[in-house]
Amino acid sequence: MSDCIFCKIINGEIPASKVYEDEHVLAFLDISQITKGHTLVIPKAHYENLFDLPQESAEKLFSVVPKIVNAMKSQLHIEDLNLVSNSGRKAGQEVFHLHLHLIPRYGKGDGYG
Ligand code: 5GP
Ligand code: ZN
Repeated sequence: MSDCIFCKIINGEIPASKVYEDEHVLAFLDISQITKGHTLVIPKAHYENLFDLPQESAEKLFSVVPKIVNAMKSQLHIEDLNLVSNSGRKAGQEVFHLHLHLIPRYGKGDGYG
């Protein structure tokens, strides 16, 4: 998708702080972090949101989540996080390339929820 911000990040047209990459999946820091270490995990193939995600791609996407959250755990010294996917406009989705938000939690007053 030529006008998709996240496809541009995948192509290297827009810079991002990458935290994980393989053939099918990319994870990078959110440009506007809700809490320190807020990370987005995306499939490299363009799907709008969860409603659009084929089973096989879902398996590839979700299979890397434990690896990423455990890296976050050791690097950020956290034991708590939220995994969120805003799917659809009424759910607050702004970028229409499927993404999982991984939001580290630091306790009361950390800025989320
Ligand atoms: P949504 O509301 O669609 O679930 O969340 C989109 C997320 O993408 C937001 O948290 C926003 O800060 C992030 N975002 C938007 N544009 C960019 C960008 O160019 N680079 C990065 N790293 N994150 C972005
Ligand atoms: Zn895209």
